[in-house]
Amino acid sequence: MTEQTPAPRVAIVTGAARGIGAATAVRLAADGLAVAVVDLDESAGKDTVERITAAGGRALAVGADVSDAEQVQAAVDRVAAELGAPTVLVNNAGVLRDNLLFKMSESDWDTVMSVHLKGAFLMTRAVQKHMVDAGFGRVVNLSSSSAQGNRGQANYSAAKAGLQGFTKTLAIELGKFGVTANAVAPGFIATDMTAATAARVGMDFEEFKKAAATQIPVARVGVPEDIAHTISFLVSEGAGFVSGQVVYVAGGPLD
Ligand code: NAP
Repeated sequence: MTEQTPAPRVAIVTGAARGIGAATAVRLAADGLAVAVVDLDESAGKDTVERITAAGGRALAVGADVSDAEQVQAAVDRVAAELGAPTVLVNNAGVLRDNLLFKMSESDWDTVMSVHLKGAFLMTRAVQKHMVDAGFGRVVNLSSSSAQGNRGQANYSAAKAGLQGFTKTLAIELGKFGVTANAVAPGFIATDMTAATAARVGMDFEEFKKAAATQIPVARVGVPEDIAHTISFLVSEGAGFVSGQVVYVAGGPLD
């Protein structure tokens, strides 16, 4: 009898056109998963897909706004049809609308809640059926060290703290189906998002990173691959007993 190689697991990474999401998609593909690169605009995901396929991996760019229930369902249905049933989900898509509380508009608040919190909820709700059917699933939600509070980020910090509660509840509800849920809470990671923060406070990005590194025990800022590496572990087959955790990846202790 010939031994059958099992089909590769299928992962969905949201906000995977750039930054942490792109590095995570590339890493999960290198780990042997087929990866759906979900971002607002399908064409924005093409670079990530090309990096994956050039390295011999399998990937698909899918356009969807994670805060829109219909687009989310259509994206998950397309992934299931074209790549296979998704059993790994990384809720990474994110936006900033920083402002001090007295200047924060309702739209700043609603946008951040919609993308981070509602987006993670909609994506997870749409994907969980595939995980339950497979008796295997891995959900990783991107929280942040800002969950502990950060000046100018009342909206973002509330959303990132909310994601920690969401993660723990998923772990409790879905554990018996072989599904784990964990949150990764990055500290300062050099991406377009932190570059935009530097621009907002009127600092050169290199100077901004240098200043941030002086406050970090490992004496450097993070790179997207630092987060991708942690996610790679959490979604691995062997990590089935790690669930409901918040892993701070910040170059030093936070809790
Ligand atoms: P980034 O470079 O700004 O990338 C975010 C990606 O999400 C972009 O490709 C963006 O698309 C996409 N996106 C935004 N809204 C979306 C929506 N509604 N539907 C689908 N995709 C959407 O951010 P990053 O720095 O890599 O951060 C990734 C995640 O890590 C975020 O959740 C962030 O909050 C979290 N995080 C980052 C840091 C850090 O220091 N960088 C620290 C802690 C936590 P567009 O390009 O079209 O906008």
